[in-house]
Amino acid sequence: MKINLISDTVTKPSVGMLKAMMSAEVGDDVFKEDPTVNRLEEKVAALFEMEAALFFPSGTMANQTAIKLHTQPGEQLICDKYAHIYNYEGGGVSFNSGVSCKLVDGDRGMMTAAQVKEAINPPDFYHSPLTTLVSIENTTNKGGGACWDLEELKSIRKVCDQNSLKYHLDGARLWNALIAKKEVPQQYGKLFHTISVCLSKGLGCPVGSVLVGDKETIKRALRIRKVFGGGMRQAGFLAAAGIYALDNHRERLEEDHYKAKEISTLLKSLPYIKSVAPTETNIIIFELDEQQRSVEDFLESMKQQDIHIIGMGQGKLRIVTHMDYTDGMHKSFLKTLARL
Ligand SMILES: *Cc1c(COP(=O)(O)O)cnc(C)c1O
Repeated sequence: MKINLISDTVTKPSVGMLKAMMSAEVGDDVFKEDPTVNRLEEKVAALFEMEAALFFPSGTMANQTAIKLHTQPGEQLICDKYAHIYNYEGGGVSFNSGVSCKLVDGDRGMMTAAQVKEAINPPDFYHSPLTTLVSIENTTNKGGGACWDLEELKSIRKVCDQNSLKYHLDGARLWNALIAKKEVPQQYGKLFHTISVCLSKGLGCPVGSVLVGDKETIKRALRIRKVFGGGMRQAGFLAAAGIYALDNHRERLEEDHYKAKEISTLLKSLPYIKSVAPTETNIIIFELDEQQRSVEDFLESMKQQDIHIIGMGQGKLRIVTHMDYTDGMHKSFLKTLARL
């Protein structure tokens, strides 16, 4: 039995999802005439109580569009040193928007309002780039699925307002944070100028992210998406998967979190594990005691059992639980780990 824990993007559409996709009504979304894409966009906007939404082929494109929306070339954005937009979007911040990043040394990918304030360049000091955007990530990917304290996010919004900065949320795994912290999307809709959410991670769709914001902003986003080559035609088949996932796959994230916590607890008890980062959602980041067991050796013995996990460099490893990681796989994985 293959057990794939490298990411929550390895899932296949469920039977119900496939059925919804196969029977989707479609049109040409470039003319905004795909009824299913329109329905998905309206649904996500309503969830966040924001005015409008736009469907994207990837989270990267949704984030990059947001950055383009909120900045001009030469300006600077503020983000944590672990931010996906900085580390894993191919340098798109500079390539697409001509913008630099001021990196903040946060905790597990999360910064404080005081750190954000400190990172703003004085607007009159024309020698340094003009700060115009703050981007945060919830849950944090490289930070191990950590969830923000909503109060801190509110304090950052205040700093943004006081300094005329825009505020973007990379919510690729926001669904996980909402479940873990028992929060609702509207609480986030109130706080941010734009939010990107992913449908293909925890929610199990084959493709898709959505960007939400006010009407004027999303109207501008439509043009940027076109420029980025992200205008899709009969995309309703994909949007139908998204609608199905939003209706059926959000609550079950609890299960992924529960399994991740069990794995995390077991790892902590093993002699060859040096440290395990706090596990709040579906991501477990841990370090081996390389005196006892090297990363290569560990990954190889896992592979021999057809268990697949991923190294993150610097001796760190990552496990991500997801919809297709069944109870049977979980039992078997825990057993193998304990025996190894
Ligand atoms: C996966 C991810 C993205 C990008 O999503 P893609 O659909 O792979 O482009 C953006 N931000 C975070 C935090 C992610 O984990």
